Amino acid sequence: MSNETNAEWSAEDEQALLDTIDSWIEKSVAPIAREYDLEDKYPHELVEEMKDLGLFGATISQKYGGLGLPASIYAKIVIRISAVWMAPTGIFNSHLIMASAIERAGTEEQKQHYLPKMATGELRGGIGLTEPNAGTDLQAIRTVAKLEGDHYVVNGAKTWITNSLNGDMILLLVKTDPNAQPRYKGMSMLIAEKGDGFIISKKMKKSGYRSIDTCELVFENYKVPANRLLGGVEGQGFKQTLGGLELGRINVAARGCGIAEGALRLSVRYAQERKTFGVPIAEHQAIQLKLGEMASKVEASKLLIESAAKAFDKGERCDMEAGMAKYFATETGAYCAQEGMRIFGGYSYSTEYEIERFHRDALLMCIGEGTNEMQKIIIAKQLVARNAI
Ligand SMILES: Cc1cc2nc3c(=O)[nH]c(=O)nc-3n(C[C@H](O)[C@H](O)[C@H](O)COP(=O)(O)OP(=O)(O)OC[C@H]3O[C@@H](n4cnc5c(N)ncnc54)[C@H](O)[C@@H]3O)c2cc1C
Repeated sequence: MSNETNAEWSAEDEQALLDTIDSWIEKSVAPIAREYDLEDKYPHELVEEMKDLGLFGATISQKYGGLGLPASIYAKIVIRISAVWMAPTGIFNSHLIMASAIERAGTEEQKQHYLPKMATGELRGGIGLTEPNAGTDLQAIRTVAKLEGDHYVVNGAKTWITNSLNGDMILLLVKTDPNAQPRYKGMSMLIAEKGDGFIISKKMKKSGYRSIDTCELVFENYKVPANRLLGGVEGQGFKQTLGGLELGRINVAARGCGIAEGALRLSVRYAQERKTFGVPIAEHQAIQLKLGEMASKVEASKLLIESAAKAFDKGERCDMEAGMAKYFATETGAYCAQEGMRIFGGYSYSTEYEIERFHRDALLMCIGEGTNEMQKIIIAKQLVARNAI
């Protein structure tokens, strides 16, 4: 069975969409990237243009007002934007992870109520999993939601939550039964719109992935209507989180691959402009070795992403493939950004050159959506499980 969110897109439709995205990047994203990043300024105007482009509904089914893009086309869009400036992709990425969870696991009433408004960008969301004491080990979260009559009362704290300042709501992972054993059986997801007791306690200052709001949140007797429990049944939150990981990893892989491609582009250009010992540095073998390695890894990343995305679009199991794409493409992002820094030499340390932003943005992709250390462990476990003797 293919993934329900995906509609048929002809090669011509795909190309027309990618051409539109390319023009938008050139006209609107590239000119502001350096200034907005350095000033940590939120790109409100890009948000409005993303609404017009349909990006907030990119992977939401057409029946709920979205574009219904397959993951393979969506990944190409994310690569293109990230090759110029990765941060703005976070504005619709985390939003779409929330939308995808509602579409996959929500009740029909939740889908009808939220997805059309999310598709237009009227309501913008994010994902609230991480807590000060729990990132990789999500079952250790301490935020508790207690059912009292027709609503849940939430108390606890989250950290590193992207889109929580400028967005309208988050998909909030909570414990509805903090004493459950095993721990995951007591976890649930709430569709948490901002309201009394939903407190943004701090906007994080970040070395990279700037301009985009990532915050610490506190919940103090914050009330969520009981019918906003995702899927309507308690105890499903951990499973619902894991259900979004394949698409989430393909997303992050695409962001890493975009960073790699952008760093490569900047490097190829600079290597022809900069001269040492009377020749462009592109003629030195040491630089050629770097460019050759970078370009090969970028192409390999694209193929891994395409293969995982195609498997996802067909509805095939692809946790190992998405893990491989996420691991390899994001390491390639970090590798190419660092090699780019070396190619730019001392100028790489000047904020007048964009390569330093790629370097600051790259490592986050190795950490978010499951660290790369964890990806390798998941890949190895799958290898053994799929080849059990
Ligand atoms: C800029 C930014 C934006 C973010 N946005 C969001 C967001 O929108 N929503 C959200 O919920 N979260 C978000 N996060 C949080 C992110 O998902 C977590 O930082 C990430 O999951 C890692 O968790 P941690 O930081 O607690 O690291 P830890 O879990 O403490 O891990 C620390 C180290 O230990 C390793 N490790 C942990 N457990 C194991 C194990 N069993 N075996 C081997 N190694 C292990 C990890 O690989 C890592 O190297 C964001 C983070 C950042 C920096």
